[in-house]
Amino acid sequence: MMGDFLVVAPAERPHLLGLGRQSLAKLLRTWGESPFRANQILQWLHTRQVTDFAAMTDISKTLRARLAAETRIDMPEIIADQTAADCTRKWLLRLPDGNAIETVFIPGEDRGTLCISSQVGCSLACSFCATGAQGLSRNLETHEIIAQVRVARDFLGLDAITNIVFMGMGEPMLNLREVLPALDLLRDDYAYGFGARRITVSTAGVVPGMDRLGAESPVNLAISLHASRDEIRDILVPVNRHYPLAELLAACRRYPLPPRRRITFEYVMLEGVNDADSHARELLRLLRDIPAMVNLIPFNPFPGSDYKRSPQVRIDAFRDIILRGNVMTVTRRPRGDDIAAACGQLAGQVRAGRRSIPLAVHS
Ligand code: SAH
Repeated sequence: MMGDFLVVAPAERPHLLGLGRQSLAKLLRTWGESPFRANQILQWLHTRQVTDFAAMTDISKTLRARLAAETRIDMPEIIADQTAADCTRKWLLRLPDGNAIETVFIPGEDRGTLCISSQVGCSLACSFCATGAQGLSRNLETHEIIAQVRVARDFLGLDAITNIVFMGMGEPMLNLREVLPALDLLRDDYAYGFGARRITVSTAGVVPGMDRLGAESPVNLAISLHASRDEIRDILVPVNRHYPLAELLAACRRYPLPPRRRITFEYVMLEGVNDADSHARELLRLLRDIPAMVNLIPFNPFPGSDYKRSPQVRIDAFRDIILRGNVMTVTRRPRGDDIAAACGQLAGQVRAGRRSIPLAVHS
C-alpha cells in the first residue's frame, strides 16, 4: 500500500495518453473523483504536453499520486530524426516491444500536415507499397497513435501542425478499435482540438470500416483507389477482391459527408499499368455522382519494387482528362523522397513483420 491505494504493477496500468474523455471520466469516477477533472488532466497531458504529474498544480496531490501509481505514460524512443531537402521531416520511433514506426511532417505554405501510422506494418500487401511488402506486425494502441503527435509537437512547437492524415503505415480501418478513440482525442478541445475537417483517414477500401467511421467520427475520407477497373485493382490493391469497385464506390456514396466536403481519391501513377487515357475516362465515370477530388501521386520507388513512375507528360495528360470532366485534381509533389519519407516508402526498418532487417550483424 502507498497512501490509500494499491501500487499497480506497470503492465496492468492503463496508458494515460490513450484515454479519451469518457474513459478518463470513468476511471475518475471509480476513484471517487469528479469526472470533470478529466478536462484538466486532458489539458495538461495533451494541450500543454506536460507528463510530470508534479507540475499539474490545479489537481489535488492525492489524485496526482494516484495517477502516478495506477496509470502509465509511455513515450516511444526516437531513433532517427531526418529532415529532407524540401523540409519534410521524418521520425523513426521505437516502441517498448522493439517494433518501429514512422511519422512524417510535411510543411506547406499555409499548413503543416502530420502523417501518422495506425499499425506496425500492414496486412493489405498492396503491390506498389513498401509498408505492404513487410506484412503486419501488430496494431498500434491509441496511446501509440497519439504519441506520434506528441513527439512531432515536442520538436515543432504546439502550433506547427494544422492537419493530421492517417496516411502513414497501416490500414486504419482494420484498427478502428484504437483509431476511433485517437480521433476523439485529436478532436477534443481539451486535448488537441483539431476540427474534423482537419483530419483525414485514408483507406485502401475496407468497406465495413468506412461505414463505421462515418457513423462514429465523420472526418475527411481518402480512398486509395489507384485503378478504374477491378482486374487492375485486384493486383494493385488486393483487398479489392473482397470489396470490389462497385461496393467501394457505393460505400463512398453513403458516407455521411458534411456539405461542401469531398472525398479524396488517391491514384498512384504507374507507367503502363493504370495511366492510360482510357483509365482516366473510366475514373471519371466511376466518380460521376460522388463529391470527389482526385489526388494523383507519382509512384515513389523503393528497394525491391518493379513498378515505374509514369512520365510527367503522361501524368499531365491524365490530369487534363480528369479536369475536363470537371473533377478537381491535384498532382502530389513527391515529398521527402531523399529520406524515404514519400508516400508509400515508410518501412520502419528496425524489426517489422515477416521480413526482419537486423540492426546489426554479429559474426
Ligand atoms: N492503408 C491506407 C493508409 C496508407 S496511405 C491506405 O491505403 O489508404 C498511404 C498512401 O500512399 C496510399 O494512398 C497508398 O496507396 C500510397 N502509396 C503507397 N505506396 C506508394 C508508392 N510507392 N508511391 C506512391 N504512393 C504510394
